[in-house]
Amino acid sequence: MGASHLISLNIAVLGFIGAVLFVLWNHDKRQKTALYWAVALTLVAIHWVVNLYRGEWSDTLVVLLNNPLVSLAVSLTVCATYIRVDRQPPWALLAIGWFATILPLCWYQLVTPHTGVRILIVSTSYVLHFVWAGFISLRYGPHRHNADILMSLCLVALAFLCAMRVGFLIHAGIPNALDHRDPFVASIILVAIPSVFVGCGLFVVLAIGLDLMEELRNVAERDPLTNTLNRRGFMARANQELQRAQRHKRPLAMIAGDLDFFKQVNDRFGHAAGDQAIVTFADILQAACREIDIVGRLGGEEFFVLLPDTEDGQAHDIAERVRTLYEGAKFDDALINHTLTASFGVAEMRTSDQEVGQLLSRADKALYQAKENGRNQVIVANKTQPEMVTNKSLSVA
Ligand code: GH3
Ligand code: MG
Ligand code: MG
Repeated sequence: MGASHLISLNIAVLGFIGAVLFVLWNHDKRQKTALYWAVALTLVAIHWVVNLYRGEWSDTLVVLLNNPLVSLAVSLTVCATYIRVDRQPPWALLAIGWFATILPLCWYQLVTPHTGVRILIVSTSYVLHFVWAGFISLRYGPHRHNADILMSLCLVALAFLCAMRVGFLIHAGIPNALDHRDPFVASIILVAIPSVFVGCGLFVVLAIGLDLMEELRNVAERDPLTNTLNRRGFMARANQELQRAQRHKRPLAMIAGDLDFFKQVNDRFGHAAGDQAIVTFADILQAACREIDIVGRLGGEEFFVLLPDTEDGQAHDIAERVRTLYEGAKFDDALINHTLTASFGVAEMRTSDQEVGQLLSRADKALYQAKENGRNQVIVANKTQPEMVTNKSLSVA
């Protein structure tokens, strides 16, 4: 395939991916990473369009159009990376970087023309920018998906390819002539760099698509008030965890927690105060749990926690800690100076448990017992006889 065909292919592919990213951003304006990449890839595509006129237009015009365009595109990839990792792009530093590339370039094009030095300056600038973007992306994550890691690796690959260009130039003694005719250099410029740019664009599209899928899953599986799992999300994950615990013969415990006399809170202080009481409870519960614990709000003010690798004694201690913290919690507005309490039931998985509903029901029965016993306490279900419970509570308020 001839060089002009390759250039036309680059224009088409980069332009299409730029358009896809632009449509993504237009659909969801929060996706600023998509916008920056859309503009960056479009600028690179335009640079290839200008390149088609090399020979027809004056060399100076092509150089002075293309280099600022690509330099801007490279700066935008750095911006896009900062935005993806939820950081503010360092605009001033990026502007300095752009001028520090373009001013010496103009000098070596207009004042003391030297092609080799000119290419050396821009290529070195691109290496530094891609190393910068790759470092920010790999260092600050959050690497929500593998697509983010692959995208970071593409940035590192771009840095490497530009560094190869610098290496070839130095090796050739920085000649005052274009070295595009060298087939290896031509393949880097015409094939490798545009391909990796395309890879970046595709991984950005993928990462944003996966973000949206995760968001939809969150909407379907999470309770918007407390951000804990709803019944659907809880049951799906809890059942998986139960199968795993049975397979590996690991202990598994369940805590059920329910606010005491909550109807009165709603009736006396209003629904907003009730919501505040629920959110505070959920926050304390989640803070007391580990990352691997599965926390769900299954009823109005009834929460369940599934604790992998945990025996009922340890689960009791966690529930007891939550109980004490909630009893001492401070509230605002209508609930100021009021003390609220919660009751808890704890159960441990038995080898006969086939599905999580059985464990959940034993924890619920223990919770019911805690209510019967006077509330504000933790009751642990008997390990072997589901209908019997052991009172491990400290005191009844
Ligand atoms: P007990 O100590 O026996 O648990 O008594 P209780 O009054 O807390 O009884 P129950 O657990 O049955 O109370 C559930 C109440 O929770 C009824 C409902 O009005 C209220 N509720 C359910 N969902 C919400 C919610 O999202 N916000 C608020 N503010 N209240 C809710
Ligand atoms: Mg209640
Ligand atoms: Mg309840």
